[in-house]
Amino acid sequence: MRILQLSAEIFPLLKTGGLADVTGALPSALHAAGCEVRVLLPGFPAVMAGVESAETVGQFLAPWGETLQVRFGALADVPGGEGPLKAYVLDVPGLFDRPGNPYEDAQRRPYADNARRFAALGWAAAHLGHGLDRHWSPDLVHGHDWHAGLACACLRLWPDAGARRVPSVYTVHNLAYQGLFGPQHLEEIGLPQVAFQMEGLEFHGQISFMKAGLFYADRITTVSPTYAQEIQTTEQGCGLDGLLRARSESLSGILNAVDDAVWNPATDRHLARNFDVRRPGGKVECKSRLQREMGLDDAADAPLFAMVSRLAEQKGVHLVLAAVNSIVQSGGQLLVLGSGDAELERAFSLAAIQHPGGVAVHIGYDEALAHRIFAGSDVTLIPSRFEPCGLTQMYGLKYGSLPLVRGVGGLADTVVDADLATLEDQSATGVVFHDFTDEAFQYALRRSVALYRHPRAWAKVRRSGMRQSFSWIHAAQQYVSVYQQLIGH
Ligand code: ADP
Repeated sequence: MRILQLSAEIFPLLKTGGLADVTGALPSALHAAGCEVRVLLPGFPAVMAGVESAETVGQFLAPWGETLQVRFGALADVPGGEGPLKAYVLDVPGLFDRPGNPYEDAQRRPYADNARRFAALGWAAAHLGHGLDRHWSPDLVHGHDWHAGLACACLRLWPDAGARRVPSVYTVHNLAYQGLFGPQHLEEIGLPQVAFQMEGLEFHGQISFMKAGLFYADRITTVSPTYAQEIQTTEQGCGLDGLLRARSESLSGILNAVDDAVWNPATDRHLARNFDVRRPGGKVECKSRLQREMGLDDAADAPLFAMVSRLAEQKGVHLVLAAVNSIVQSGGQLLVLGSGDAELERAFSLAAIQHPGGVAVHIGYDEALAHRIFAGSDVTLIPSRFEPCGLTQMYGLKYGSLPLVRGVGGLADTVVDADLATLEDQSATGVVFHDFTDEAFQYALRRSVALYRHPRAWAKVRRSGMRQSFSWIHAAQQYVSVYQQLIGH
């Protein structure tokens, strides 16, 4: 099966969140499951720098009359199964050669031409589906998140009625980010007027790239079974729950996994000392080093709570801010690595000033520090309002940092709450709370501290967590079965 994976980000070249971890790990797992995978990426500077010996394979005319180049090469730093991952890049400097965040300018405003940028990406996928590269064409296009949504519409509404129809799979990583644009962009995105209606990509008078994916893809997946259910409800459907309910037969949840080559405490080169479930001793040194590095008191017996996250309302960040005093008063420490909302950044920085030695905050994005934090902390906090899958609870589990999570989305699918029954049968892997309130979160914190004060029980829960396996091979097999339903191999 020849699969073209389409996304805006890919680890390790370009990452703003979990999407990149997934698109960077899935191709080699799909390869192991018998697929031939190539990816298509926008020619952002980090992508252009990471692609080797890129040759032009073709060009096509954008709806606004510009000729756009597609190149083909290999991504030396991304495993493709057999050697580096083969990649097409949409090499249009006018659209993609901008420093910083791929979607926003330095003032965090979405670029005014995002409709054009990601329409170009959608058309590039559709052209590759229809023979732009004389030597290779996909059996199926698999797009990720709203950036890829238009590809599903372009493939379905491909102007040549006699052409072979190339099916698409569309994966929702976060329904809240929808790619909405004013109707004046319709001509520019190059789709016929018929697409701009309720039975199409129109959403309350706007063009929705997310809806284009949901409406026109042959199959929809999302990144956990629970989120697949939640997005069909009014509360979590972001206005698209009706469409998702109507398409429920074509929708399924496939849980994300963890790339063992990147996230494994036994081999992780970012750590001062490696450790694993049978030899967890190295974690003590990782904690002590982390405390010193971050200016926290070097206290081995203080439960160290950590958060590695985008600082956004979705992540329940205000619950953590409201709990700072009680964490410190209970003898615990708080360490936050994150960036995002400017007010939240300021509030955390202030908390660190108010609690020297007890609270440490690093505003910014730092991949290596994230690894050291999972290794050195005792608890990973993820009190999200909603969470499509969440990767950090899985990293916490693997690195012996017990996840304290709200029981929503993928968090509900991956963490088992510690209570007397789950402690006894050794299924407990963390702490789960439900109400999105300060009281419920702080009670969960108290339960974590209490568990921490019982070292034998704590060690058992940690062991069960570290033994969890989140294998990409397993996830890839589920994607392959979705592909097979569409192309009948
Ligand atoms: P989301 O995709 O909603 O941001 P996920 O939990 O799915 O959340 O994925 C987040 C990814 O981004 C994880 O790999 C996490 O370690 C990483 N991450 C988030 N914030 C930072 C940061 N400030 N520095 C380093 N890594 C971060």
